Amino acid sequence: MFLPFVSHGHLLPMVDMAMLFAKLGATATIVTTEANAALFHTKIHRDRVAGSRIRLHTIPWPAAEVGLSPAIQNLSTATPMTMSKVFQVFLMLQPQLRGLIHEMRPDCIISDVFYPWTSDVAAELGIPRLAFNGSSYFGYCAEQCMKEHKPHLEVESNNEKFKLPGLPDVVEMMRSELPSWIAREDDFSRLLDVIRESEKRCYGMLMNSFYELEGSYEEHLNKIIGIKTWSIGPVSLLANKEIEDKESRGGNPNIQTTNLLQWLNEKEPNSVLYINFGSLVQMNPNQLTEIAHAIQESSQNFIWVIKKNSKDDDEDDIVNKGLPKGFEERMSKTKKGLIIKGWAPQLMILEHKSVGGFLTHCGWNSILEGISSGLPMITWPLFAEQFYNEKLLVEVVKIGVGVGSKKWWYLGEEEQEIIKREEIGKAIAFLMGESVEALEMRKRAREMGEAAKTSVNCGGASHINLVSLFKELQETKLKRVVNGQKNT
Ligand code: UDP
Repeated sequence: MFLPFVSHGHLLPMVDMAMLFAKLGATATIVTTEANAALFHTKIHRDRVAGSRIRLHTIPWPAAEVGLSPAIQNLSTATPMTMSKVFQVFLMLQPQLRGLIHEMRPDCIISDVFYPWTSDVAAELGIPRLAFNGSSYFGYCAEQCMKEHKPHLEVESNNEKFKLPGLPDVVEMMRSELPSWIAREDDFSRLLDVIRESEKRCYGMLMNSFYELEGSYEEHLNKIIGIKTWSIGPVSLLANKEIEDKESRGGNPNIQTTNLLQWLNEKEPNSVLYINFGSLVQMNPNQLTEIAHAIQESSQNFIWVIKKNSKDDDEDDIVNKGLPKGFEERMSKTKKGLIIKGWAPQLMILEHKSVGGFLTHCGWNSILEGISSGLPMITWPLFAEQFYNEKLLVEVVKIGVGVGSKKWWYLGEEEQEIIKREEIGKAIAFLMGESVEALEMRKRAREMGEAAKTSVNCGGASHINLVSLFKELQETKLKRVVNGQKNT
């Protein structure tokens, strides 16, 4: 049984994982609400027709109880104002899910870390629970290091650098880049404590990562927390091989894919910069203006995905307020740029040969998808653990260049750090340019992309981990059945 959290960054990789387990022969049931299930319905149907034992089980979403529109079942469709309500409703799912688990009696629960209580239900049923941590080993290690050593308390100001002690590499950060839950105790930091505690009682953790990317952090984490982990990623590579999978992953794209591909096919190899800030970020209009000027002045081919937020905001107004007058028309007429307002088929775009760089907010899935396509990245972290992820890309793996973002943002908060066009322009010129450093970075990114593919294919480290975990779970089940028979 797979229990994904209600945001695309958690749902997408978990659905991919369910598909991989189903391909190995498991009966995989994904439990989620109706609107979230609808995002994957077609793909699940295709897999079932092909013989896979994967299915969706939908559960009610009690939105009305907190005065939330029933259509909003995912953080990605919420506004900054309604995000906390989505979380509130999510927490209310616990009693019905507990009942469902007892009724369905799965052989194993694979649940997002946001379901810490599933460690207890699994113990009640005598079955394993694997926790899915949707982020990087590096982020996990950095966070543990912050909690244990508190190096941020040893500097005088928010902009002074400090080292993170004990990590395999020298990594420096500033207080301004840290998540709010490190700086102060709040509801979320208390929830994180519950999550970390529940992980100690689970069978192990599933990580969407691969050894060649952050193997030293995998070893470091296993040493410091003593929980078994399995790296089985990048899961999107193996679970989305067909063009249809890439086209509609996570939602219907707000562009005709034939037009998109035609536009891309007309461009030179490696000449397009792809810009996307993930499924949750709505940029401040002033920031949109700066980005627009930067890309226009760079003369770079680009695809820019701008998230439209909600039904009750005047979405187009927010976007139009930010884009300079006539910008869209000019870009379309000169064929320099393509603006996608809403959802983009990210995997399809990233793997196209014309795309040569990715400007990303450093969400872990986007990073893995960029790496899988062998792309160097411009890093623009904003919230959650994204500043940690940036350090991994820029300072450790050295396939990213920072745009200069320095201030952690409480997702949805009105005040947003504005990065000026000159800074953005500098990063674009470097990433897409021909300097020796840029060429070396591109080479490293290509090699890491190859390593990602090798890892998930038969005989690769991630594939071996997946298969051996599946066998181990089968043996656990067998032992349980035999013991049950002995006891009756
Ligand atoms: N995504 C997509 N199209 C979009 C925006 C996002 O396909 O227009 C996908 C992207 O490929 C990734 C996920 O949504 O798999 C976003 O997850 P990530 O961890 O990168 O960031 P988050 O959205 O959680 O901030």
